[in-house]
Amino acid sequence: MGRSVTILGAGLVGSLLAVILRNKGYEVTIYERRPDMRTAAIGASRSINLAMSHRGWKALELAGLKDEVEELAIPMLGRFLHQKDGTTAFQNYSKNREAIYSVSRGDLNKRLMSLAEKQGARIMFDHRCTRVDVAENKLHFQLPDGIETQVQADLLFGADGAFSALRASYSHMDRVNVSQSYLEYGYKELTIMPSRNGKWMMDKNALHIWPRGRFMMIALPNTDGTFTCTLFMPFEGENSFEKLTTREEVAAFFNAQFADAVPLMPTLLDDFFNNPLSSLITTHIFPWHFKDKSALIGDAAHAIVPFYGQGMNAGFEDCTRLSMLVEEHKDNWEVILREYEHSRKPNGDAVAQLALNNFTEMRDKVADAAFLQRKKIEKELGNRYPDKFISVYEMVSFSHTPYSTAMQCIGYQDALLEKIMDGRDFFNEIGNADFITELDGWMSDYHAFVKQLDFGNEG
Ligand SMILES: Cc1cc2nc3c(=O)[nH]c(=O)nc-3n(C[C@H](O)[C@H](O)[C@H](O)COP(=O)(O)OP(=O)(O)OC[C@H]3O[C@@H](n4cnc5c(N)ncnc54)[C@H](O)[C@@H]3O)c2cc1C
Repeated sequence: MGRSVTILGAGLVGSLLAVILRNKGYEVTIYERRPDMRTAAIGASRSINLAMSHRGWKALELAGLKDEVEELAIPMLGRFLHQKDGTTAFQNYSKNREAIYSVSRGDLNKRLMSLAEKQGARIMFDHRCTRVDVAENKLHFQLPDGIETQVQADLLFGADGAFSALRASYSHMDRVNVSQSYLEYGYKELTIMPSRNGKWMMDKNALHIWPRGRFMMIALPNTDGTFTCTLFMPFEGENSFEKLTTREEVAAFFNAQFADAVPLMPTLLDDFFNNPLSSLITTHIFPWHFKDKSALIGDAAHAIVPFYGQGMNAGFEDCTRLSMLVEEHKDNWEVILREYEHSRKPNGDAVAQLALNNFTEMRDKVADAAFLQRKKIEKELGNRYPDKFISVYEMVSFSHTPYSTAMQCIGYQDALLEKIMDGRDFFNEIGNADFITELDGWMSDYHAFVKQLDFGNEG
């Protein structure tokens, strides 16, 4: 088989890509900055999880890892809202009871690395890439003892995350468009502990949200009975991280804002002061590839904010798409990389925007009565007109519709729902034959618009 492949980064996407390319017969070597997480004592005992949805599962299936990971995944059927006044509410994610799944990030990464090695990929740990001579495809590394070394790549993939060395090296080339923007929000991970007999203290089949307008906390279940909570809040200003500097301030803030969670968080104050405060970045770059020599993939190509739970899913879908293109064009990497960029770049941009939009929805709108009513109507439309209407959330999380198409549907769906909700009580009207005739007409018009969009499968 043709070329040998070098991958920068043994994270989720780099390791998965290694498995997929090994399965196609390519020789694969990964260079990873960190020590081997399977043997090194890093990350202590904190469980950190992510939400896996359709696009992620599809790629895992391709790698032959779906069944194994499914056994460790916890289905989350909807959002469980915790309001400030102590009331709670549950919203299904889908009309068909489809779920997104909470999966341990570390566990998944370890399994992907082990599978990559089992299939014959080599992983070189403790190799931090400092730069890439893009035209020559030469990589420069620094080892932990300070020694510098160089590697000549044949075909190179930068799967080295949001601060990718390959991306940075591309940015020095002529006519490369590159941008990055930070949110003025940061995040901190905290823990909800299990009961004495190791059971979950809240409904484990839900993604829990405490929406509070300018800030929010979310919690996803882990298999050990804990929940990983993430507090998203501005760095500065009222209700911000800069205001929480003492144990008393943190305790008072949590008691006021998240009173129902506090009794479940006995390690709250230690977690708050021991765990890092991290920032949230969105990056864009174009082009994503250089000739037939190298390309960016995963967060290296499109780092996005985490509010749609799609970063890893999008990176995994990059791998699926690449795999399809290799099947189609065999060893013609000039065409493969060009087509890969052509199909994935608009989707990377779209998912970045969807994720930013969803932040407002999660922290603010989910607590709003009109928004909740709209969600109920969307569900009813999906049930009544299954061939004509699928909500944007379902398109993103439970289908392989291109993200860019889902993004385009937002405007059409907003206009449709505005018309439907305009001054009327929808659920009273649906018994009325005249209204149904009118609704049938609106749904046909809507469908005529959206069916012109590209619903081609990305996965
Ligand atoms: C708080 C939070 C919650 C999230 N939740 C979700 C979710 O629910 N669902 C979801 O789909 N996505 C989620 N994401 C996004 C997801 O974590 C990323 O999209 C995903 O990890 C990207 O995988 P990757 O392999 O491209 O990059 P990474 O996971 O960042 O891996 C990059 C790898 O490259 C290595 N590396 C970096 N620089 C170098 C270098 N110079 N030389 C060599 N190696 C290097 C790193 O050590 C790492 O191993 C979340 C992100 C955050 C921040």
